[in-house]
Amino acid sequence: MGYKAQGRLEKLQNYIDGNWQDPASGEYIENMDPSRGTVYSLIPDSGKTDVDRAAQAARNAFPKWSASSVQERSAVLMRIAKGIEQRLEELAHAESRDNGKPIQLARAVDIPRSSENFAFYASAILHEKSEAHLMGPNGFNYTLQQAAGVAGCISPWNLPLYLFSWKIAPALAAGCTVVAKPSEVTPYTAWKLSEICMEAGLPPGVLNIVHGTGSSVGQAIVEHPDIPVLSFTGGTQTGAQIMKTAGPRFKKVSLELGGKNPNIIFADCDFEDMLRTTVRSSFANQGQICLCGSRIFIERPIYEKFREAFVEKVAKMKVGDPSSENTRMGALVSRVHLEKVKGYIELAKEEGGKLLTGGTEPEMSGELKGGYYLRPTVIEGLPYDCRTNQEEIFGPVVTLQPFDTEEEVLGLANSTSYGLAATLWTSDLKRAHRMAAAIESGIIWVNCWLLRDLRTPFGGMKNSGMGREGGFEALRFFTEPKNVCIKL
Ligand code: NDP
Repeated sequence: MGYKAQGRLEKLQNYIDGNWQDPASGEYIENMDPSRGTVYSLIPDSGKTDVDRAAQAARNAFPKWSASSVQERSAVLMRIAKGIEQRLEELAHAESRDNGKPIQLARAVDIPRSSENFAFYASAILHEKSEAHLMGPNGFNYTLQQAAGVAGCISPWNLPLYLFSWKIAPALAAGCTVVAKPSEVTPYTAWKLSEICMEAGLPPGVLNIVHGTGSSVGQAIVEHPDIPVLSFTGGTQTGAQIMKTAGPRFKKVSLELGGKNPNIIFADCDFEDMLRTTVRSSFANQGQICLCGSRIFIERPIYEKFREAFVEKVAKMKVGDPSSENTRMGALVSRVHLEKVKGYIELAKEEGGKLLTGGTEPEMSGELKGGYYLRPTVIEGLPYDCRTNQEEIFGPVVTLQPFDTEEEVLGLANSTSYGLAATLWTSDLKRAHRMAAAIESGIIWVNCWLLRDLRTPFGGMKNSGMGREGGFEALRFFTEPKNVCIKL
């Protein structure tokens, strides 16, 4: 697989109306391997014409798919889940190469979860209830939940197939047909998904995958008059741009955006558990998970102890080839992103921050020389309101800040424009409840991180988004409720 084995670059194709198609433009974008900084495949540089074709196919497929029984839809989605599971190794390697994430992470998290997303919604629709409101002897109401039409699903590069399927699975389960766009930076597993959908017998036009840039394909999906529902995960600025376009068109929009998550550590926590988990919650996937805790607040009595133990562990983390089984820190996703993160490290220094470890690119050898690597970075001594502590960096960079009181740390935690996720470490149950209720975040983890139950609402408040994914929330999002009132 790939250009080396074939002696030429592999060309990905769009998946429209059940077939693979070249982009109307005939143009392609280079797809990079971030671990080496080399081009390894070509992505269709699609545009409005391709999105029009995909939307037409989705519109044609909608009446039959939305009217099919939940058992029929469930069976197809379950076959897709199985297809992903059966190709675990192939997909994990593909995800690792496309994104730069350690193969071990792709194998343990990304791909199993992508399969689970389909299995979860295949099963959820079998258990959904309808609502009825009785009006005594006068009459009664029942509420139909009808598929909302063609859904546009747009996802980012950090957890490529995981987040792509997190949108597509509930949309298809709810009876919508879909026009989807993966990030242009990490298109490869979405391309493989189209093959799996064909093998699973997904009817033509039910799912259409159009590759290309956000400004071209993404914008065309958002503007399209036949796509009334949009589910987007990505940056806050892009989310604002989408709202500007979708607002006047009265589209239904769900936005999962950026974060600047606090990790609050009280002195009474289980120190070893907290330390182990905090290394993970700071640097998993090179810190490129929207849920990573990038601002670490430590209660003053254990500040020195934490700093010493944390920095020692982080400094030992080996940055290496993502395809190696022992690697826990791989490459950042792109040259542009690496430069952005490095820019924030420079800014932190200008703002008076002290680098405790990391901050530089490691010396790599051989083929890895051209890759986009960065050492995990820990900074202290910055004010809470500086740009480094307010803006999303989305890389392997965390800051340490001491605090004295619960009230103080609450103010610090809530000081940013974001509100996605927060982590609390304490053995005081009452305090945990108090803090959880007061922190402005859509997701709170107490004495854990990334412990996920797919039935729970997932998403953020403030500039971290609008609406919630997960569980029945997502199924509801892709439907229109219609009340039917009958007089007795
Ligand atoms: P972007 O916002 O740059 O891109 C996200 C997706 O939107 C990509 O597919 C992109 O295309 C596309 N896009 C770009 N411009 C437009 C447009 N004008 N109209 C429609 N689509 C467009 O985010 P990143 O890919 O850089 O992802 C990182 C961001 O995602 C971070 O801010 C992170 O916090 C956030 N995120 C949020 C999560 C959450 O659940 N809240 C989870 C994971 C990430 P392309 O890249 O191909 O140009």
